[in-house]
Amino acid sequence: MFYDVIIIGAGLAGLMAAEAAREQGARVLILARGMGSLPLTSGCIDGLGYFPSSSPVPVSSPLTALGRFKDFHPQHPYSKVGKERILSALNRFQDLTRSGAIPYAGQFDSNFLIPTALGTYHPTCLVPETLKNGILSLPGRVLLLGFEGLKDFSSWLAAENLNLLQAQGKIAPSFRAETLAGLSLGGKALNSLNLAGAFDGEDFRDRFARQVQPLLKKGEKLGLPAVLGFRFSHQAWADLQKKLGTEIFEIPLPPPSIPGLRLYNLVRSHLQGKGVRTIIGLSVLKPIMEAGEIKGIVLGESRKSPVYRASAYVLATGKFVGGGLDAQRNRIFETLFDLPVQYPRNRKEWFNTKLLTAAGQPFNSFGVEVNENLQPVDPAGRVVYRNLFAAGGILAHADSMAEKSGGGVAISTGFVAGELAAKTR
Ligand SMILES: Cc1cc2nc3c(=O)[nH]c(=O)nc-3n(C[C@H](O)[C@H](O)[C@H](O)COP(=O)(O)OP(=O)(O)OC[C@H]3O[C@@H](n4cnc5c(N)ncnc54)[C@H](O)[C@@H]3O)c2cc1C
Repeated sequence: MFYDVIIIGAGLAGLMAAEAAREQGARVLILARGMGSLPLTSGCIDGLGYFPSSSPVPVSSPLTALGRFKDFHPQHPYSKVGKERILSALNRFQDLTRSGAIPYAGQFDSNFLIPTALGTYHPTCLVPETLKNGILSLPGRVLLLGFEGLKDFSSWLAAENLNLLQAQGKIAPSFRAETLAGLSLGGKALNSLNLAGAFDGEDFRDRFARQVQPLLKKGEKLGLPAVLGFRFSHQAWADLQKKLGTEIFEIPLPPPSIPGLRLYNLVRSHLQGKGVRTIIGLSVLKPIMEAGEIKGIVLGESRKSPVYRASAYVLATGKFVGGGLDAQRNRIFETLFDLPVQYPRNRKEWFNTKLLTAAGQPFNSFGVEVNENLQPVDPAGRVVYRNLFAAGGILAHADSMAEKSGGGVAISTGFVAGELAAKTR
């Protein structure tokens, strides 16, 4: 079975690499163990939230910060990809999501602060439109509404913490909380997935609006947990705003995150519609390497296991959460090709003993070293396999947690790697 490009990994980087390669006319196959970390995320695309990463003050413009970035972080994936390719990739991402009816608001040249379910803020640069009315620089009064029985969101906790931030002058709006009782899903458990499915239906939205209307005060915006629809979220959000006559916004919840799942489903079905084949749920992939080239990927361990071959390959397997990196007591390794990994040999330098330090955990920036063409290189800078490219979390030197740069790095390096892989044909 022969393809032009095989992508390993179905997270944001792998999906974007597939989109870029297929736009070049390549026949593309995605192979992956699972769906990656999108369902863990807010569904928002972080550009660059903190620079330096230990700064307590969020970056206001990732684009402006990038001007100084290369001097501080010459090895960072953003420095390798460069401003023009980052902007082009994010524009193409926004075109794709708009065409799939999940439009994203924002741009790389300014960050939004959006509320989290715990009542903190998250600097990010592209947000689904269903979240945009919650931007914390907009003044006004907000009702946060929780649902009795939905354990993932306490409107009271979120409102109290957000009001503390407002008192410190860090955000503009003020908040009050209510809990909606008696929300029925016809016997189904009250969780994010079931609620999102219910909000896809207009009858459910009608009933919900009738229950909520008496709780809203004049001039208040409404903040709700991010469960307003699964397949038709933008429509459900717009319809509820009309029914309630006020601005509404969603607040992302802990995993499984509905905005993250919506994005995954949108991109995956777009790719399938364009002829990209995806095989997801694989337990064992075994690469065939020979004379500085990847020759194929075997699915499984038996002698009869199928072999998939391509002219070029993109490695987009993420870090420790995704499964692209793993650790033994004294070694960190790349799990598929055993590529050289950039990390300090002294184990004590892998961790910061303060778990939640602003500077981040060193292991979050370990990964595979690449050249300007995103080809993995050895410590002497030599390309390891001429037809292999890498993208996303697997790359060294970016700490998506501390910098808040994960989505931006995944999209920009995914596009570049997919395009370069397609051109290797
Ligand atoms: C809890 C959490 C919350 C986050 N929130 C945000 C956020 O709100 N906004 C943001 O921009 N970023 C966020 N990030 C960061 C962001 O998720 C990542 O930086 C980015 O999604 C990485 O994408 P990726 O495609 O490189 O890797 P992943 O999403 O990790 O995907 C890796 C893929 O590779 C597959 N894979 C791995 N190993 C193998 C193998 N050996 N064989 C076959 N397949 C394999 C996996 O199954 C998966 O499909 C968050 C990260 C975490 C952990």
